[in-house]
Amino acid sequence: MSSENQLSLFDNSNFQQKDLIPTDAKIPIPSGTYPSMTELAQHCNDCHRCGLGENRTHAVVGRGNLKALIMIVGEAPGQNEDETGLPFVGRSGQLLEKILASVELDTEKDVYISNINKCRPPNNRAPSTKEMAACKPYLFEQLRIVDPKIILLTGATAVKGLIGDKGAMGTIRGKWIEWEGRLCMPIFHPSYLLRNPSREVGAPKWLMWQDIQAVRAKFDEIRH
Ligand code: SF4
Repeated sequence: MSSENQLSLFDNSNFQQKDLIPTDAKIPIPSGTYPSMTELAQHCNDCHRCGLGENRTHAVVGRGNLKALIMIVGEAPGQNEDETGLPFVGRSGQLLEKILASVELDTEKDVYISNINKCRPPNNRAPSTKEMAACKPYLFEQLRIVDPKIILLTGATAVKGLIGDKGAMGTIRGKWIEWEGRLCMPIFHPSYLLRNPSREVGAPKWLMWQDIQAVRAKFDEIRH
């Protein structure tokens, strides 16, 4: 090997900037970085851009149809999700499936489900602003890959994490918010509905029923 070639082995430019993404939140993730969700998932499973990477069993990247018209974005994985590597698989997930099924939306066919943060926060606390900022570029890449027309944001943290604080859930739920050429709707988190099981008119479950019907109507409008 020539001495010039030997010297080039010490050159920083030999490191692909892309390889450094999982190491530090300061490394940007430019649009188009990941050709596929598989490659993005590999980085998430190796990631330490924030402290949540320390204790994860699995990074929880997403599930569903990679070409879905609807993307559902939650806050962060819980225990069941951390164990399985899949989002919304506990009791909340089962309720979410039922809510979607009530308007004949199929989780494998019609939606893609992900979270703002891919790793589980300790004791199921909400992710911090810094943790959300570290992980958000992965979500932007997921949005680019799936390219959904409708985004459902489950709960206030998901709203804040993606489109910024828009006010109390009681006020903003069920409203369409245009964001980056997509239609977002804040909806109650299924775990909130589990804690508030009443179906009376005006109760959270009843409101969710109104919201999911509006989602179905918009889905049909966009699809045709
Ligand atoms: S939560 Fe996101 S940014 Fe933090 S370590 Fe996990 S994948 Fe990386």
